Amino acid sequence: MPTAVLGAGISGLSAGFYLLRRFCKPLTIYEASPRVGGWIRTEWHKDRGFLFESGPRTIRPKGLAGANTLQLIEELKLPIKPIPRSHVAAKNRMLYAKGQVCMLPNSAKGLFRTVPPFTKPLYRALLHDLVTGSTPIKNEDESIYNFAQRRFGKEIADYGISPMICGICAGDAREISVRFLMESLFENEQKYGGVLKGALYARFNKKVDDSNGGIFAKGEPELYKQAVKEKWAMYGVADGLEQLPRAMRKYLGEHDVNVQLSSKCSNLTFSGDGARISLRDAEVPVRHVVSALPAHQLAPLVKAQHPSLSAQLLDIPYVDVVVVNMQYSSNNLLKHNGFGLLVPPVEKLPVLGVIFDSCCFDMAGNTILTVMMGGRWFDQWFGNQPSQKKLRDIAQQHVQKILQIKEDPIFSRVHMLHKCIPQYTVGHKRRVEGIRKYIKDYKLPLSLCGAAYDGVGINDVILSARRQVEQLSLATKY
Ligand SMILES: Cc1cc2nc3c(=O)[nH]c(=O)nc-3n(C[C@H](O)[C@H](O)[C@H](O)COP(=O)(O)OP(=O)(O)OC[C@H]3O[C@@H](n4cnc5c(N)ncnc54)[C@H](O)[C@@H]3O)c2cc1C
Repeated sequence: MPTAVLGAGISGLSAGFYLLRRFCKPLTIYEASPRVGGWIRTEWHKDRGFLFESGPRTIRPKGLAGANTLQLIEELKLPIKPIPRSHVAAKNRMLYAKGQVCMLPNSAKGLFRTVPPFTKPLYRALLHDLVTGSTPIKNEDESIYNFAQRRFGKEIADYGISPMICGICAGDAREISVRFLMESLFENEQKYGGVLKGALYARFNKKVDDSNGGIFAKGEPELYKQAVKEKWAMYGVADGLEQLPRAMRKYLGEHDVNVQLSSKCSNLTFSGDGARISLRDAEVPVRHVVSALPAHQLAPLVKAQHPSLSAQLLDIPYVDVVVVNMQYSSNNLLKHNGFGLLVPPVEKLPVLGVIFDSCCFDMAGNTILTVMMGGRWFDQWFGNQPSQKKLRDIAQQHVQKILQIKEDPIFSRVHMLHKCIPQYTVGHKRRVEGIRKYIKDYKLPLSLCGAAYDGVGINDVILSARRQVEQLSLATKY
């Protein structure tokens, strides 16, 4: 019987890639839409030398998950565009706060100066952590905002952590779990009584772990070694990030994996010896299902047979994001160069941030900006089904005000991304453990990967797919 993957976003394609490595055939990936890539989408304007990304655009090479993605990219022989730490897009990060664009400090020296929007030098926040004892936290989780406020003070929570959370998951730091980004800081603080104390203790007592999580049998990938040597901060893919899922689809096709587009799964039932996938015109029996669907899209498929699992999946909330790409023909419109700017939620603006795409990558003399709006505050700002015109106008007005760009873009594109980013709210880790326990207890031939569970970035979802497949092949004899 075949194995099936649901969804051909980057998670599903990665699951296919790792299943193939385990000789897990026959293998079919079912994708509802007529294309692969999910939220990864590039719009090319080759004649004018620029491109728009409506989803992700850069990947970080850091850590195990970063090295794992680079290994995949190396195997696909995909050309990439590194951005070293010395590049202006890596060094300059900005906030729009208190009516002005504020450049954040990018060196240790900057910690000792008062830089707007902060009213005191940032080293004072570190002192606050040193002199404040820790409070035991109920249920071993709290919001990342609370944690930052307890340890470093309100200003850091408002102007440091909250905009960062907007930039990563378009969420509200007052709701997002501290474990989403700061799990080890939180655990060390709870154990040693402070973030700095915990960090120092961990540094001097850390056992060197050179096992690489057991995932690189032949040593670290060459591309990862190059990234470390050349100090890459991040990288993009030549001709846009959508080349990554496209290359994966090509690779899978060349290795007899069937990527079936326009094939929406409408129901999923399990029996002792496998599962049945309902498609529009067929019922397919399979040995095992790897779901790489967003949790809210898997929930209705299992509801009839497993209502409790369905309800648990629906407990993972999602937010809507508006992405507006803009092209201006001149290349000297920006007063400051950098990756872009974030808008702290205390500013109460509909804009989450603006990415300066043409500072990151060459766009043939065009200025390309991407405005992200809404997220956790989408309903409050835009209500039900706002028109494209309204969204475009709001984005344009804010770009004019924040960046003082007087002219209108020559060309722009508005994307309404419905339920595009899962929110790892307080208790997320327990929720995911509960979902996986249910699957284990009922011995369902189902594995879960994708942005809903083990991290929302591209590196996280690729590694999550790999780990799920590796666990599967330990448990199942193929
Ligand atoms: C605006 C935005 C910017 C981002 N920027 C970055 C960034 O710069 N760097 C970074 O690392 N990450 C970034 N991310 C996160 C990253 O893009 C996502 O984590 C990742 O693309 C999620 O991939 P996925 O495969 O898990 O899910 P998806 O991309 O959602 O793929 C799921 C797939 O399943 C299909 N599907 C749904 N229902 C069914 C069904 N019933 N049957 C069959 N198929 C179905 C869908 O059509 C889709 O193709 C960004 C995300 C967004 C939204």
